[in-house]
Amino acid sequence: MRIPDTAIEANGSRQKWVAGTSSYGFGLYVRYYFDVKRECRDCKRPFIFFAEEQKYWYERLGIPLEIDCVRCFGCRRKQRKIERARKRYNELFAISEPASPELIELVSLSLDMIKDGEFAAHPRTFGRIRMWLNRLSKDTSQEVERIELRNRLAEIEASQQKAMRRLMNELGQEENSD
Ligand SMILES: [Zn+2]
Repeated sequence: MRIPDTAIEANGSRQKWVAGTSSYGFGLYVRYYFDVKRECRDCKRPFIFFAEEQKYWYERLGIPLEIDCVRCFGCRRKQRKIERARKRYNELFAISEPASPELIELVSLSLDMIKDGEFAAHPRTFGRIRMWLNRLSKDTSQEVERIELRNRLAEIEASQQKAMRRLMNELGQEENSD
């Protein structure tokens, strides 16, 4: 929803479309940006995509006009964090003999991603984390880090089990009510 009296002038010659060609000559550009009120796709909270922000996106960053802003600032930041974590995880995962600092990072990233709901809390996921922690245990200089990570793992596993029990209870109650 457009917010009145917020228009700022756009520079069509700096805008582009996904197609790659500039449509400036054909008049197919945005002349003004307005503050617009949106609902975040992820958290469903309202946010404003500010006119100044749009100018920055479409004229400075070179983001094509078709790309719309669908997430609030907080969710966009979270999204970027997840993307970075995923990329880093893949880099580390490709190393055949990870050293202690890499093992620590692998475990830490895995735990973060389980917490963010990016990784399924599957027994295999937990098994892999435990395997890395075991390897790490051979390096006694990393004992403090290892214990910290082990505690975080135990905490997450406990909360997963609790959620699972709750689900089983709910299912059981549904069966009984039949
Ligand atoms: Zn949001």
